[in-house]
This record gives sequence, C-alpha cells and structure tokens, in this order.
Amino acid sequence: MLLVLKFGGTSVGSAQRIKDLVKLTVNEIPKIVVLSAMSGTTNALVEICDSLYNRNIIDATRQINNLKQNYFSEIKLLYTNKQCIEKANNLIENHFAYITAFTLDMFTANEEKAILAQGELLSTALFHYYLEEIKVDSVLLPALNFMRIDEDDEPNLPYIEKYIAEEINKHPNSNLFITQGYICRNAFGEIDNLKRGGSDYTASIIGAAIRSPEVQIWTDIDGMHNNDPRMVSKTHPIDELSFDEAAELAYFGAKILHPTCILPAKKRNIPVRLKNTLHPEAKGTLIANINTKEGIKAVAAKDGITAINIKSDRMLLAHGFLRAVFEIFERYKTPIDMITTSEVAVSLTIDNSKNLKEILVDLKEISQVEIDENQTIICIVGQLPKDKPGYANKVLEALKDIPLRMVSYGGSANNISVLINGNLKKDALQALNKGLFNYN
Ligand code: ADP
Ligand code: ASP
Ligand code: MG
Repeated sequence: MLLVLKFGGTSVGSAQRIKDLVKLTVNEIPKIVVLSAMSGTTNALVEICDSLYNRNIIDATRQINNLKQNYFSEIKLLYTNKQCIEKANNLIENHFAYITAFTLDMFTANEEKAILAQGELLSTALFHYYLEEIKVDSVLLPALNFMRIDEDDEPNLPYIEKYIAEEINKHPNSNLFITQGYICRNAFGEIDNLKRGGSDYTASIIGAAIRSPEVQIWTDIDGMHNNDPRMVSKTHPIDELSFDEAAELAYFGAKILHPTCILPAKKRNIPVRLKNTLHPEAKGTLIANINTKEGIKAVAAKDGITAINIKSDRMLLAHGFLRAVFEIFERYKTPIDMITTSEVAVSLTIDNSKNLKEILVDLKEISQVEIDENQTIICIVGQLPKDKPGYANKVLEALKDIPLRMVSYGGSANNISVLINGNLKKDALQALNKGLFNYN
C-alpha cells in the first residue's frame, strides 16, 4: 500500500527546499511522491510560449536563458558530488536545448504543452539525483507512461490504473517512487496537462488509481483556511472538511486545491490531508467522508465569471423552455455554475466563455439575452441543514452593502453562492470575514 504525497511549487522551489523534502519523504512508509515544477517555472514557461507564439525570438531567447541560469544556480547549491553535478548539468542542457529548438522552428499548441511539461520533468529528476547523492534508493516513474486524459479531458482511470501498476510492478523491492504532477498524455497520445495547479489533481488521480490509504497535499500553508489569505488579513485553518465541502471550496476558487482534485479521492473514499511543508507539525486539514460540525466553515471566490440573462415571454406558464436553453450549453460543452429563475427570465453563469459568441447566437433565436462579464462567484461553504434557520440571513446581512447580482441557496446543504461584480470581490470577502467569522 503506497501513500501519495504531493509537494507543490514552493515545496520544491529552491535547492534548500528540495533538501528539506528528505525529512518528509525518506522513511519506512512506502509512498509515491508527486512533484510540481519549482515555483515560478511554469509561469516562466508560459511566458516563453507566448513569446514563441508571437515569434518574438529575442524575448523568448532571453527568457529561456534566464530560466536556465536559475537552474544552474540551484544545482550548484544542491549537489556536492561531481558525478551528480555533471548529470544535473546535462539534464538542464538537454531540456533547455529542447525548448531553444523552438526559437528556430514552427511552434503550435502541441509544442506549447510539451514545453510546459519541462518544469515537472526537471524537478523530479533533480530530486531523484539528490536522493542518489545521499544514497537513498528511489524510482522515477515517468508520468507520461501512465497519466492519460480522454477526449473530454477527463482522466482515463482504467488506463491509468493498468499502466501505473505496470510501472510500479517493475520495481518490487522499492518503496519510494517519484513522479511528475500536472503532465499527462491526451487521447491522441500527445503531451498534455491537467491545467494550471494540476499537480494536486495528479496526486488524487494516482491515489484513486492505486487505491492509496491517503493522499497528502503538502504546500506553503497549514491547510484549508476559512477565507482567502491573499484577500483578507486574518484567517484560520480548518481541521476537518467533508469531501463535498472541500470540493465546493476547491471548485469555487480556494487556490490551495485544484478545482477538481477532490473528485477522484471522493469516488474511492480516500482521505486527503493538506499539510504545510514549512510547519510539518501543524495539524493541517483532513478531508474525508465525515460528518463535520454544523455551521458555516469557509468562503471562497471564483473570478472571470460571465452572467447571462435570458428573458422570454415563452417561458411564462410554458414547459420545455429551460430544456431548450440547457441544450444550447450542452451543444457547446459549456458547464453552467449558478442558476436563478423567475417566471419570465433565467440568469445563469459560466466560467468558460470560449464558445460564448456561438451560445449567444443560438440563445437569441429563442429569447432576449443580456450578458455581464467580469463577475465573481462568492461561495459560502459548510454544513447548512435545510431545516435550520438563519444561515442565508447571516450571509445576506454580512453582505448588506454589496450589490448582489444573483443568489443561490438550497441547491445543496453545503453551499450558499452569490454573484457580484468582480471589482467588489475583496470587499465582499472582507465583509464575510467580519460578519461570519468575527474578524475585524
Ligand atoms: P502549491 O504551489 O503548493 O500548489 P498553491 O499556491 O497552489 O500551492 O496553493 C497554496 C496557496 O493557496 C496558499 O499560499 C494561499 O495563498 C492560497 N489560498 C487561497 N485560498 C486559500 C484557502 N482558503 N486556504 C488556504 N490557502 C489558500
Ligand atoms: N506546475 C504547474 C503549475 O504551476 C502545476 C502545479 O504546480 O500544480 O500550474
Ligand atoms: Mg497549487
């Protein structure tokens, strides 16, 4: 039985951080260690890709060289053994030669994915070499040999199960495996990824695939906090969350977890523990199939939301109108997040506006349509039993000075959501911190 431990960008962000991982990973407990790219690397690779797209070769070359120099500086601090230094030097030269080749050649979306994969390929190899230097046996599992998504970008769990088992079974005497987060292959076998922040998702997919006893997400904060610490000054960690509470928070913007990371773990009932690499002794947050305490536990915010108001007299006393609306969103594979209705109108929100133009054309055939862009969903999460009064009132009272574009309550016993103008996000999170959690 292998545990899954995932370490995010800051946890592998420097030579010292990589050395510090030894204390948390080298022991008798069999495990798979999933690593992100060193912090800043994926952002830098995105910038490099942008420059390559625009054929801005001077910028691309400068950005590539800057990133490469960072790696050379870190490995000087990481290794002392001559052979390891040489191996790491070659590794960096090879990966950056691969990236640099695109300054001379064509560059397409497929190649962008391949470039974005370099960060995780580098961090895992560097950690593996470091373990080699300190004489700890470990096995580097190539994620590209087993992580797959299907045509709908969903993890292909049967494939992953089969091929990760094959990779692991090649090493019957090993109990420390290392693999890359974030990267995968798509249905055509091309290099792809699980979207930004996707290493958490890798960890829970692997946890589900190998039926791990626990998935641990190690990061730079001591668990899921009640509010976004980047937006409000006072927050506290939450000891326990149910899968549903955590999934709502992750989906609605709590950056500590990738939006869909909880789903594979929930499916196989695998506890997920959030821990702080900087303070391993802190309790962190346990996410599991548990009945947590009643009450509001946390709030999160999701930006970049488009609200669509659909109005039609045909809706009045008629049936089948909503189906016609939903079919349009289904046709363009666009999920709806929030929805509110009146007798003659419906408002709903989407966060993926890739096909917005086409959706609007189709909607206008059956209704009048208005859109509001740059909206934010604020999601209030906890155990909010439907037969207990007061929760909606508390939220609305806390937000009394913020104009609310939509309110959604009663969809589940875990969530109250409101939609506000994106410019008011910070004010709303501060108001909720005061009104719900008594922070000033
Ligand atoms: P990693 O690189 O380890 O994946 P992330 O930066 O993706 O780390 O996630 C950790 C960060 O998430 C924290 O530093 C914190 O600023 C941010 N964050 C946002 N909302 C929350 C929340 N509700 N609880 C804890 N952290 C949060
Ligand atoms: N390195 C990727 C990113 O920065 C994946 C991750 O860190 O989870 O998005
Ligand atoms: Mg993350």
